[in-house]
Amino acid sequence: MASTANPFAISLSSNPTSLRKTNNSSDSFLRVQSPNSVSLRSSFVSPSSIELNLNRRVSSVSSASRVRSRICASSAPVMESAAKTDSNAPTIVDVDLGNRSYPIYIGSGLLDQPHLLQKHVHGKRVLVVTNSTVAPLYLDKVVEALTKGNPNVSVESVILPDGEKYKDMDTLEKVFDKAIESRLDRRCTFVALGGGVIGDLCGYAAASFLRGVNFIQIPTTVMAQVDSSVGGKTGINHRLGKNLIGAFYQPQCVLIDTDTLNTLPDRELGSGLAEVIKYGLIRDAEFFEWQEKNMEALMARDPSALTYAIKRSCENKAEVVSLDEKEGGLRATLNLGHTFGHAIETSFGYGQWLHGEAVAVGMVMAVDMSHRLGWIDDSIVKRVHNILQRAKLPTTPPEMMTVEMFKSVMAVDKKVADGLLRLILLKGPLGNCVFTGDYDRKALDETLRAFVKS
Ligand code: NAD
Repeated sequence: MASTANPFAISLSSNPTSLRKTNNSSDSFLRVQSPNSVSLRSSFVSPSSIELNLNRRVSSVSSASRVRSRICASSAPVMESAAKTDSNAPTIVDVDLGNRSYPIYIGSGLLDQPHLLQKHVHGKRVLVVTNSTVAPLYLDKVVEALTKGNPNVSVESVILPDGEKYKDMDTLEKVFDKAIESRLDRRCTFVALGGGVIGDLCGYAAASFLRGVNFIQIPTTVMAQVDSSVGGKTGINHRLGKNLIGAFYQPQCVLIDTDTLNTLPDRELGSGLAEVIKYGLIRDAEFFEWQEKNMEALMARDPSALTYAIKRSCENKAEVVSLDEKEGGLRATLNLGHTFGHAIETSFGYGQWLHGEAVAVGMVMAVDMSHRLGWIDDSIVKRVHNILQRAKLPTTPPEMMTVEMFKSVMAVDKKVADGLLRLILLKGPLGNCVFTGDYDRKALDETLRAFVKS
């Protein structure tokens, strides 16, 4: 499976000798020992995944006692695979990052359990950052959760305009204005209440206000619950590209109250499911098979199906982040389809296409390219189309996109190194991918031409 040596390829390996995690400090490192691009196998399906499983640092617990458990997806119908738990006890997935470790609480009614939030608040001042859509729905509930039985804490809030186009420097300034006018000090806590836009922007504000203050994520979209709130990537867009300004900054905790999804529009639900599907494709074939059996339940918002998909996605993300926090290599694989997708989002103007919709098309394009390279067989291409369509996601870019538009945005992608664009492509059986610049350029051109008219 290894390709020829390429100085630009990030080396990920299923080979226990080449993927090493060291624990000689409180932090963990992904040590890449081979200069070659090799495939990263699904960590759950084959003996070659043993290294990842042995090193896995993610635990999920669904009661007060924490017991480390292996990610264990099932292809069985959701009612069989969803854990039967005390309805009030959150499932907890730990993100293990040494002294920056934190829990992800997942469950129904968690905003009615004030102690979960309060134990992660530092100091007496809190700033809740939210937007004009989410504030009327959940701000009061969050303020109550922060203050109930806790009279010493005072809560300020800043309500930002809603939309990806406001994930920018001007809107960030509004958060700083509020924090400075309120005379918040270094002991304050910023709380992000909303989808990925609010989480990314608030996280970046927390990372830079007074050089870093305490930060909590309360994600309220599927996208934010399965992906953006976990792992500490924060930031804003620049007019020349998405997420080009930002910082790695981990929260103190992520609190996922699945009840908040009841108010989410259908289109946003589908958009978030694109990232759920992504985990299956890049590293968790059994989870993909489970999704194939349960996509209708997910689209119908079956609570146990959604909870399972969120938990399993968080486990996958937490595992990758704990192995490669700052995207030395492995973490980049979470961006399957994103390079093509960002080109759509940027060319089209932020907010026209939802992030997950653009990622869905990007995944189809990455899968098409992988197939042209001879790295995957037909059946994977068909299964990807099929599952995205069942999630009501687009599989072709908007008609106005041109090859030039794709190329100009892809040229400033963060995965360009020394002028070479590295991509996440599928290689081998389902659940395997590579992050590499070692591919035939013709295949990229052919894929772009196959998906656009000019
Ligand atoms: P979003 O934040 O724009 O939220 C989508 C819409 O849903 C908004 O209109 C929002 O106001 C509304 N909304 C949120 N919660 C709601 C609820 N419970 N009920 C009703 N409406 C609700 O979009 P998103 O899809 O959540 O996130 C996309 C953003 O996340 C992008 O900016 C993307 O770059 C970022 N992202 C970041 C990471 C990361 O690792 N940091 C990963 C993936 C995506």
